Amino acid sequence: MKKVYSGIKNLIIGLFTTGKHLGRHAITVQYPTERWPMPERSRGIVVLLSDKETGELNCTTCLLCMRACPTAAIRIDYDKDEKGKRILKDFVVDQGICCFCGLCEEACNFAALKMATKYEFATYKSEDLIWHTDKLQEIGRDVPYEKPERKKPEAKPAAPKPAPAPNPLPAPEEKPETKDGSKPEVNDAN
Ligand code: SF4
Ligand code: SF4
Repeated sequence: MKKVYSGIKNLIIGLFTTGKHLGRHAITVQYPTERWPMPERSRGIVVLLSDKETGELNCTTCLLCMRACPTAAIRIDYDKDEKGKRILKDFVVDQGICCFCGLCEEACNFAALKMATKYEFATYKSEDLIWHTDKLQEIGRDVPYEKPERKKPEAKPAAPKPAPAPNPLPAPEEKPETKDGSKPEVNDAN
């Protein structure tokens, strides 16, 4: 009997809660026909950014993002020219092992990589989650970003030269000269 009362009580509480929301605006959306706008700083897929004027990738192949990635989701293949400068061959992101930590974006000083607000990239094969340069660049083309201004470092005033350190050894005592200017004889009796 106790269980019956408890059940009726819970039913009334549930109906009361439902009744409270009957006249209110729905807080769910009919996905996929409706979607919530993602917050600007939400972390979705990793994409590559391009220069807005030239369309070229902003990446300088500095490798900082690859080294910052805790899951090794980023692989950068490059060549070197005759001056030793790195030339990007392929930028690969395995979206399947990315943990969306954002460390790669933080490490990049060139606005070359960003976690876009996009998130729909489900696939049946894990290999399809390995994205190469072309795909990363294409999906990143409409991603808004601000390129950081590079200021030249101001020349620092030259530091004052330190004062010469005092000589810890006492100056040698001057030996008295004889009348004719010759050195005094040393009594070497011992
Ligand atoms: S994306 Fe940024 S951090 Fe990564 S290699 Fe390119 S310039 Fe360096
Ligand atoms: S978000 Fe994190 S895990 Fe994903 S690629 Fe960037 S550093 Fe690696």
